[in-house]
Amino acid sequence: MAKCKSTIKGDDKKEQLCCPLCEKGILKPYIKDLKFTYRGHKTTFKQEKVFSCNVCDFENLSKEDNKRIERALIVRRFAIDDSQPRGYNAKQNFHSS
Ligand SMILES: [Zn+2]
Repeated sequence: MAKCKSTIKGDDKKEQLCCPLCEKGILKPYIKDLKFTYRGHKTTFKQEKVFSCNVCDFENLSKEDNKRIERALIVRRFAIDDSQPRGYNAKQNFHSS
């Protein structure tokens, strides 16, 4: 199979829509709910635009959405940490599901 050469037409940045994982598939946008769990607390971002590869399982957000969600998760994480009793193990990560 030839390498993907797809780009967003009319976009100044000519952002690649090729899958960075398999480099063969094309990333197509679709809408889904994103769910994150941190220390048992669930955070859901509803109706987010996700780019998904049509060949492998790769999924990605746009840079803007990624930044926005990353920030929201940091704020949420601080709020959850504040509500935890002292001595609670702080080494935990978000798990995307
Ligand atoms: Zn792919």
